[in-house]
Amino acid sequence: MDMFVKVHVMHTGDLKYDRSLAFKELEVIPPVNQRGEACQELVPVSAYLIEHPKGRVIVDAGWHEDIRTKPKEHFGEDLYQFIEYRLPEGSSLREQLAAKGFAPRDIDAVVMSHLDEDHISGLELLIGAKKFLVSEPEWKNVASYKEKWFKGVSFETFEPESIPYGPYRLGKDLFGDGLVYLVLTPGHTAGHVSVLARVEAGWLLLVSDAGYAEKSWQELILPGFTFDERQALDSLKWVREFSQREDCVAAIANHDPSVRPGIY
Ligand SMILES: [Zn+2]
Repeated sequence: MDMFVKVHVMHTGDLKYDRSLAFKELEVIPPVNQRGEACQELVPVSAYLIEHPKGRVIVDAGWHEDIRTKPKEHFGEDLYQFIEYRLPEGSSLREQLAAKGFAPRDIDAVVMSHLDEDHISGLELLIGAKKFLVSEPEWKNVASYKEKWFKGVSFETFEPESIPYGPYRLGKDLFGDGLVYLVLTPGHTAGHVSVLARVEAGWLLLVSDAGYAEKSWQELILPGFTFDERQALDSLKWVREFSQREDCVAAIANHDPSVRPGIY
């Protein structure tokens, strides 16, 4: 049996927001385009397919195809003012999986790094996958007011356990064989996880939104929205430390335009 996994990095459309949403610099984050073009960031919305010898895992769900035709209904007014979005034909996660020959029923687990809208929007398109997984602290914190995003999806939660990695060495060894760890990296949200995958060349760290780009952990710049600043800083410090390991192939943020789609 292979002692590594394969990770497909996919961009499922993009979004535009005020840069202070990604890199903390203001107390209050302005709506998109309010401060002028120089302060706006146009970034991808990433999702990942991990092929493990014992199953296929999706990390994050990307945009729902509904945003092409009824974005206001899908997002709601609140969110609508903070972002612009785009989902070209063929680029939703469902469409990209289909192009690889996979339907939702071929997916063994859909793992959520956290439950922000740009990660859960496309969940409904993955119904049929064998299980949907999120950390218990993340679920406990937001499930009650984000119900509309979870219709038809039944989540399994996991209580973070002792693992060898992460700022608090807590998370989950997904297959129990040390090839895929969900690493608790809280701070941006209450139960945010990054994913550590053992690929052929070494470790690939899917940072998700613990940091929005490499400079986030290089310069310890917190995300614009933080649930707990102290934890967010601990998480960034750990990402920096891990990214410097000889056996770390790459540490990649979900919304970093310099990270290209491809396979590790
Ligand atoms: Zn995000």
